[in-house]
Amino acid sequence: MKIFEKLLELGADVKVKEPLANHTSMKLGGPVDYLVFPNDQESFVESLRFLNEYGIPWKIMGFGTNLIVEDREHPGAVLKTERLTSIRFEGSEVIAECGISLKRLCRLCALEGLSGLEFAYGIPGSLGGAIYMNAGAYGGEIGEVVKEVLVFDGKESRWISRDELSFGYRESLLKKEKLIALKAVLRLKRDDPQNVQSRMIDFLRRRIEKQPLDLPSAGSVFKRPREGFYVGKAIESLGLKGYRIGGAEISRKHAGFIVNIGGAKFEDILKLIDLVRREVKRNYDVVLETEVEIWRSSKR
Ligand SMILES: Cc1cc2nc3c(=O)[nH]c(=O)nc-3n(C[C@H](O)[C@H](O)[C@H](O)COP(=O)(O)OP(=O)(O)OC[C@H]3O[C@@H](n4cnc5c(N)ncnc54)[C@H](O)[C@@H]3O)c2cc1C
Repeated sequence: MKIFEKLLELGADVKVKEPLANHTSMKLGGPVDYLVFPNDQESFVESLRFLNEYGIPWKIMGFGTNLIVEDREHPGAVLKTERLTSIRFEGSEVIAECGISLKRLCRLCALEGLSGLEFAYGIPGSLGGAIYMNAGAYGGEIGEVVKEVLVFDGKESRWISRDELSFGYRESLLKKEKLIALKAVLRLKRDDPQNVQSRMIDFLRRRIEKQPLDLPSAGSVFKRPREGFYVGKAIESLGLKGYRIGGAEISRKHAGFIVNIGGAKFEDILKLIDLVRREVKRNYDVVLETEVEIWRSSKR
């Protein structure tokens, strides 16, 4: 069976043996057999049905900004949502497809005079990726503004309301049940566009000041283990800021980030993560969980 041809027939575009390093903010990841770009919701769903039917393993990627991807070959397919970007407004609600960037979404909402997403301005991911992990910053979380999400469960599409989406700290039903977000309805509040815009700019400035945005990274590596425990500060207190393994470095600007200073290998990053977890456990008796998602190759 010709997988490449079939995916094209289903309305997607496909790159064969495409290095995932070209698609992750960490600039890391080996080639995947098929990198699939669905051009609309139907080609997305039909491609997934086809891959399921033939037992071809697949993963979903938004903008690859929360991923540490192994630098080996990845059998199967990765479906990238970046072309699913339609958006429309109905009163104070916005209905957007999963592949829209948070940045564009925030900007369009600001122009419409809709408030609620300011915190997300500067999070470099897609709406789908944000819903999947309930992305948040500066006291806000995407789950707070989601009204409902159209999900695909591998067979059928259905709307799920916020109450059923089990949003928690970096958690959602999508994560627990491997559901795919196709589109979402967000419920926002009317405000003066200038006010919305200035709050967005304020949050963005704080990011620029604190985060190593000039180097490849996947954002904060670890989840906050509990209220009031600041992972970055703890790592810094252990003298690990700037610590390097190969091309991976604990950021000198924000110790909660690992940056790729050039040629970082997957193993370099995993070793740094292990080192931090070990040292934080030993010194603070705190177990750190990763916020970033680690994609290992199934090829051994
Ligand atoms: C500099 C920097 C700053 C960051 N700051 C923040 C921050 O302040 N707060 C924060 O929460 N995160 C932050 N992040 C992490 C990241 O941007 C967010 O987690 C973002 O929501 C991930 O979106 P993505 O599209 O890049 O997802 P990806 O990294 O592509 O994927 C992450 C996970 O989401 C899944 N996924 C993606 N799209 C869908 C979909 N449509 N349906 C179901 N699952 C899907 C993927 O399969 C994968 O499991 C930061 C990252 C960087 C690099």
